[in-house]
Amino acid sequence: MKVFKAGAAAAVAAVLALTATACGGSSDKASGDGGASGGAKKDKIVIGIKFDQPGLGLKTPDGKFTGFDVDVATYVAKELGYQPDQIEFKQAVSAERENLIANGDVKLVVASYTINDKRKAKVDFAGPYFLAHQDLLVRADDSSITKAEDLNKKKLCSVTGSTSAQNVKTKLAPEADLLEQGGYSECLTGLENKKVDALTTDNSILAGYAAQENNKGKFKLVGLKLSDEPYGVGLKKGDKDLQTKVNAALKKMVEDGSWQKAVDSNFGPANYKSEPAPQITEGS
Ligand code: GLU
Repeated sequence: MKVFKAGAAAAVAAVLALTATACGGSSDKASGDGGASGGAKKDKIVIGIKFDQPGLGLKTPDGKFTGFDVDVATYVAKELGYQPDQIEFKQAVSAERENLIANGDVKLVVASYTINDKRKAKVDFAGPYFLAHQDLLVRADDSSITKAEDLNKKKLCSVTGSTSAQNVKTKLAPEADLLEQGGYSECLTGLENKKVDALTTDNSILAGYAAQENNKGKFKLVGLKLSDEPYGVGLKKGDKDLQTKVNAALKKMVEDGSWQKAVDSNFGPANYKSEPAPQITEGS
């Protein structure tokens, strides 16, 4: 049993290490517009997701993709005319999402991507399709952190280019010793090794980490709602047509029950109680 667990943990660690360094690669270059340009060569669509967030976007050791964002991306792609085998998933770390869209490296980003005005200066969104809240993950035996202010004398980890890192710096705990990493899996390692005292990001992401088999009993969510994080599907600024189509797909996904199914199957195992599907507001 122990040996099996250690093996599983090593496999996950290997995947996380691999994906953490894979973000710069572009071995399979897209057509330059993320596919989906319409016309004759409508053969694939490139979609940016997270590779290291269990429950949302995860690349498994056998090269498959799982998570709620993956299910949303797959549903939307189908509505745009692409079958699952015509989707190329590309890693979209938090700080790179706007660039990937603006450069045409991806057509869509479905990656725990909060809609906000700063980002809307560079990209457009469809949705929102999900509502999360910023929370804290601490070690299971730590009772010294129960509210945001407790972070002021502590070492805190978040991810570059995320709303969570920004919130900590500007309002939640400006005196915290903030370590910014490229991805949340690096923060999780830091939390386990006691290099940091807490990891902050969306509760949806933290619940996924806490529930992983090899993390069981190690971490706990503090249970705060430090912000609203409405997730949108990122797309090229000014592409009204695509925005309208993606909004229609998201609406249909909720109406036909696929949205709830995806919530249950992806967040159920983590015992994460999510908010109901939000109203679509982008583009109207
Ligand atoms: N939803 C937040 C954001 O868009 C945090 C999660 C993430 O970094 O993907 O920045």
